This record gives sequence, C-alpha cells and structure tokens, in this order.
Amino acid sequence: MIIAIDGPSASGKSTTAKGVAEKLGFTHLDTGAMCRAVTWGLKNAEITADDIEMIRHFLSEIEIYFDATNRIHLNGIDVSREIRSGDISSRVSAVSAVPEVREKMVQIQLQIAKGNNCVLEGRDIGTVVFPNAEFKFFLIADVDVRAKRRLIDLEKMGETKTISELIADIRRRDELDSSRDHSPLIQAEDAIPIDTSQLTIDEQINKIINHINLNK
Ligand code: C5P
Repeated sequence: MIIAIDGPSASGKSTTAKGVAEKLGFTHLDTGAMCRAVTWGLKNAEITADDIEMIRHFLSEIEIYFDATNRIHLNGIDVSREIRSGDISSRVSAVSAVPEVREKMVQIQLQIAKGNNCVLEGRDIGTVVFPNAEFKFFLIADVDVRAKRRLIDLEKMGETKTISELIADIRRRDELDSSRDHSPLIQAEDAIPIDTSQLTIDEQINKIINHINLNK
C-alpha cells in the first residue's frame, strides 16, 4: 500500500509521515531529504543549478540510500544533519526544479517503494510519483506557524534567523515549488486536505490513521 503525503515546507509532513509509518509498520520515505542531499552534493562539488551537463554527470554516479534508522547517505556519506541547514534550504528549490534531478529522484523513489508498504512525503507524490496511491493527503498550515516550526528546527542546529526572514524564505520556496514547469507543488484532486495550524502532532497522525482505518 502507498500513502502519499504532500504539502509545502514546514506544513508538518515529516513528523506526520514518520508517525503514520511507525503506527502502521510501513517504510517512511522522505523525498525532500533526497532533494536536499542532491543539493548538498552539488554544492560540495561546486556545481550550480544551471550547469546541466555537470548535473547530468553528477547524477549518473550518485548513490542515495536510507539506513535502518532512516538516516540519509549520499555517496557513502551520512548527510542527514548537513541537509537541514538554512543554506541548503535556500538552494534546494532551484535544484529540485531541474528536470534531470526530478527524473532521477522519481526513479530512486519508485525503486525504494516498489513492492513495499510505504508512506512517502514530498511535493509531487500524489500527482506524479504515485498517482494511483491508495491514500493521498495534502498538508497545509499558516505561514507564521510554519515559520515558527522552522525557527525551532534551525535553533536546534545552532542557527539564528528572525521570524520575518523565515516567512520570506518560506514564501519564496512555496512560490518556486508551485510555479515550476516540471511536477509543481499542487494538491492532487483526490487528496484529502489537512490544515495542521492548530493541530498537535498526535492529532495530525491520528486524523490520517483514522481515515485509513475507516476506508481501507
Ligand atoms: O520537504 P522539504 O522541505 O525537506 O523539501 C525540500 C525541497 O525539496 C522542497 O522545497 C522542494 O523544492 C523539493 N522537493 C521536491 N519534490 C519532492 C520533495 C521535495 O521538489 N517530492
């Protein structure tokens, strides 16, 4: 069974997808982490998002895998922490808009999810990667709530940003993700919208679990 959880950044996807996967005993696949890992790798190799030839070459040799504790490894390096920095967040949307990057990500996602019970979270899971997913959810939240969540994440990493900087970052990323030509961020027609602004993590998880239990 495939469960697709899409939505904009900091809408609650990761925590919800992780909790739903744990409760159901499914694999949790964070596709945003994959885009972030590619962004980190390109930055490390000093390849810019407009250098398509170098990106193609980079992608042809790439190896991404999630270990047993769901930490992400890029070409043998555990990049789980580095990919959450403010710098990678500000670069990831431009990299993710490159069609070659998207095609490669989808290829790896299909390989991981094939034949598995999987909760996938991202931007285009219910529309492009698994349009026939058994369950589709689209998470949203108010921009100021999302900025506060990001602030807490960044503080854990020792980074400081103001709420207004984070609101501007989030708006810019929403705009880039929603307006790109290739698989933009958009709610699938058959996805169930969930506004997480006023919900606790447990409430978000339970809404999805209850829906699945009532409809499977
Ligand atoms: O979910 P997260 O904020 O970690 O995603 C980081 C970025 O990766 C998004 O802003 C988006 O540009 C990109 N992404 C994507 N397709 C996905 C998942 C993430 O383009 N399926």
